[in-house]
This record gives sequence, structure tokens and C-alpha cells, in this order.
Amino acid sequence: MPINSVCLRDILLQQTASQHLSRSVASGRIAQTYLFAGSESVGRKPVAKAFAALLQCEKPVSGDELALDACGNCESCRRIANGSHPDVAIIVPDGNEIRIDQVRALQESAVLKPGTGRWLIFILDPADRLNQSSANSLLKILEEAPSHVVFILLARETGAILPTVLSRSEIVRFASPAPAEIRTALMQRHALSAEVAARCCALSGGRFGQALVLAQAALPDFPQPGLKHSHTEFLIEIESASRYWQDIFLAARSMEEALRYAARPCHEFFIPLLVSRREFCRSLAMTAGLPTAFPMLFADMLIDRLDSAARAMQKGFDALLADAKKAYPAAVIKEFEGTIDSLLSGWSALQLEETLLCLLNWYADALKVASGTDETLLLNLDHKEDIITLAEIDGIALLRARIELLEKSVGLLRRHVQPVLIVENLITQIGGLEP
Ligand SMILES: [Zn+2]
Repeated sequence: MPINSVCLRDILLQQTASQHLSRSVASGRIAQTYLFAGSESVGRKPVAKAFAALLQCEKPVSGDELALDACGNCESCRRIANGSHPDVAIIVPDGNEIRIDQVRALQESAVLKPGTGRWLIFILDPADRLNQSSANSLLKILEEAPSHVVFILLARETGAILPTVLSRSEIVRFASPAPAEIRTALMQRHALSAEVAARCCALSGGRFGQALVLAQAALPDFPQPGLKHSHTEFLIEIESASRYWQDIFLAARSMEEALRYAARPCHEFFIPLLVSRREFCRSLAMTAGLPTAFPMLFADMLIDRLDSAARAMQKGFDALLADAKKAYPAAVIKEFEGTIDSLLSGWSALQLEETLLCLLNWYADALKVASGTDETLLLNLDHKEDIITLAEIDGIALLRARIELLEKSVGLLRRHVQPVLIVENLITQIGGLEP
């Protein structure tokens, strides 16, 4: 399969959305604003690029399942593939948000005629990071934009978008693929064994884009050392991840570049951390009778480690900040500092949330087994034996209670309740399997 393809036919597991967009181009019914709604990592961005390529393509082709698709070879397609098409712009958050000055810049270019293509296309990735004022400013542009402009807004859910923007958009929904679909796609596309495909799928937490990246990486082999070692390993990998990111920030040539790295949607993506986190969650779910002092000690250590990781990453910005102080007024520096701070605390919060979700996935799998669901729906299929054990010992009622507790804990975390309390309470209540 061509790497970096801009063709809808090469997109995996989003046939419905792809066919819909293809038909709308073939029939000439092109909306001015599209909202691509779906979870992170399901393929909204590759589809947005392929749709842009189809709109601009010099020689579109028709295929078996698609009314029309980009050729993938013309000058326009090649430029979209390498990100240099003058009439296709991808707008990403500057720090945590898409700011009003970014939208104003967009407004200035939206009134111009396309340079080489037929359309001027703006992809906002993601549109749920528009703040109140930039969203209002975008709305004005949507109201006034010339007919050759197409906006593609990516969002996790429609609820995060201003209703006035929503009402002007054609909504294209992106379904989250089931674990079995992900495993099959990985085996077909990357010629992986069933075992490795299962591992990539599980490590990604069922996020297809992440699973694809994992499928191309050499996954570290992780022994199954039990809770005592896996919790230490997990804490060590949080530290390694912070060093990894610190080095990336240190190597950045400008503050803007470093902030862009820090704001990447998958900026938690450090494979050894994913592997150790999952192993820790597995051990925690499978351990019989936790030591009484463990919940408090572990909660303290985890929060401590996340705090020092954030401080270490912050050091990656020191040199850039010192340079910036020579070039920018104090107000700009203050804004930089605020952005760095919120990106790094966002990183810590994300690590905690991912840990809770990872643990939740073990219990959700066990509940599926306990309720007699087909095993193809299991996420952690590579540890099927463990899941069966967990299902047998805990039983449906307890598994439901644990899932509810984890969902509640994620909710509390998002409402900024003290994380150390959430973690301690959660682990105390889980308490390990009955021996
Ligand atoms: Zn083409």
C-alpha cells in the first residue's frame, strides 16, 4: 500500500464516510462546511486529506466501491500528500487552543481566489479546540465565505461545537471500529501474526490510528513480573517518557516548534510507557489481595512521579524561554509560560486518565466474557486466560460495580478533584481479587 496515500480507497475501516464523500463529489453536491465527528485516531484526518485531494485532483478516477476518488499521482495529489498544496491548509492549535489570530489569518486567505486548485480548503484539526472568540469569528467567515471555499472541521463530538456552526455543517460521522476489525486490518495491511496484531490493538486501547503506528514499531517485549515489579516499571517509564519529551523540546529550533510538539494530540505516545502502563493495570486487576498500605503509597508515588515528569519536561523549554525573553515583550513571555504550563499539566492529567481507562478495559473485557459475549469483541485478546479468570472470580455484579467506579473516577479527574485522592480511593476499593 502506498505510504502517505491521499486516496479514499486506501483508507481502512471508514468505508461509509469515504463512500458518502465520494458520492457527494461525483454528484456535485458539495457542502461548504463539513463536520467530521468521531473519536480520536479513527481516521478523520486521513479522510479529510483524501477528500481534499479528491476535490483538487486533476484526474479523478472511479473505482468499484467509490463513485470517484483522487488519482494519487497528479501534481495536486502529490502536493497534498507532502503537505505543500497552496490551497489546502491544515489549522492546528497554537498551544492548547485555535486562537482568534489564527482564525483571522484564515479569514484573510479565504477571500482570495484559489492559487492552483479549484477549491480553497481549510481543515481545522480539531475544531473542538476553538475557544469562544475564535469560534464566533469562524462563524462570521462561514456566513460570508465565497462558494469556492470548503471547511472541514474535525471534532470528537458534535456537542463541543457552537450550535450556530453546527447548523451550517454537513455532519459526517466516523464510527469507532471494533477490536476484531482492527486486528484483521492490521494482519492484512502489515502482515502481522494474529498474536502481534492482538497486542497492538490492545496496547492502543482500541484506537485504530495508534494501533497502526504500533504495528510499524518494534514493540518491547515485556515480562509478566507481577504487581510489585510492574508498578515500579510503570513509574520508571513515566520518567523515561519525560526525558524523551524533554529531549524533543530541547532539540526544537523555536518556541513555536516546541509548543507544536507538546500540543500533538498523541503526545502521550511513548511506547515503553504504553506497554508498562498496560502491564501494571493487568497486574493490578489480577492480583489477589493487595497489601493494605499499597493504595496510599502507590497513589503518592504516582502523583509525585507525574509532577517531577512535568518539571523535567519544563526544563526542555528553559533555553527557548531564555532566547524568547531577549526577543519578545514580557506579555508574550507570560503567554508562552502559561501555554507550557497548561500543556504539561494536561500531559500529567492525560497519563492518569489513560491509566484509569486502561484498567477499565480489563474489567470491560471480563464483563463481556462473564455475559457470554463473543470473544472477537475483547480488546485484550492476547491475555484471554487472565480475562476468563477475572470474569469467573469477580462475576457480573462486581465487574459492573468496578466499571462504574472507574467511570466515576474519570469524571472526577476531569473535574479536577485531587488526583491523589481519586487514585488512592480507586485502588483501595478495587482491593485485588479475593484469594
Ligand atoms: Zn490526482
